[in-house]
Amino acid sequence: MAALLFREDPYLATCEATVVAVHENTVELDRTVFYPLGGGQAGDTGKLGPWRVVDTRKGAAGDSVLHLLEPNAKVEVGLKMQVEIDWERRHRLMRLHTALHLLGAVVKAPVTGGRIGDDKAHLDFDIEMEKLVKGEIEARLNEFIHSGSETKARWITDAELDARPELVKTMSVAPPRGEGRVRLLEIPGVDLQACGGTHVKNTAEIGRLTVAKIRSEGKRNKRVTLTFA
Ligand SMILES: [Zn+2]
Repeated sequence: MAALLFREDPYLATCEATVVAVHENTVELDRTVFYPLGGGQAGDTGKLGPWRVVDTRKGAAGDSVLHLLEPNAKVEVGLKMQVEIDWERRHRLMRLHTALHLLGAVVKAPVTGGRIGDDKAHLDFDIEMEKLVKGEIEARLNEFIHSGSETKARWITDAELDARPELVKTMSVAPPRGEGRVRLLEIPGVDLQACGGTHVKNTAEIGRLTVAKIRSEGKRNKRVTLTFA
């Protein structure tokens, strides 16, 4: 189990950490600022001491995080090392991730999937194609962005979440369970849902976006893809 510093402060780009386990090409630390691939959001990249971290994944245990190192990296258990994520990339991921919460409020339909990269992000909706109008979605989305709403994270228990199933909007990217608590992300008046990802503090930080593509991915999957304007 590692202390997941990005949960309390997604703006933390560096920390000092001790190596607690070394596997073939992955390393576990006692604490980390690296977000592991999950909830549709890509894993962080960055540096562990002098070595490149090329990706980050969840380990088998609850809060374990696997930092995938470049080939030939030499790391030993017990080493204290400086940890640093590629902040500009992470910040783009945070901006696009928060934008998907807004997109989910603009398009009022069940979400069937989603994915967040550092240059584009998409949500899939169970909706008829005719109801997705690029210009309208883009305008509403940018209104929400420019409104400058604060985002708020708070924790609830698994039992509270069970009692309010409407808080899980995206079944395919459901938040991590089994730790006894689940994090909620609220954009007041816009969106409230269980989400374990990283978000910007204020929607204005997202910056102007465009709807790059609206495409049918099947009968119940209409994909809306966003990019930076
Ligand atoms: Zn989120």
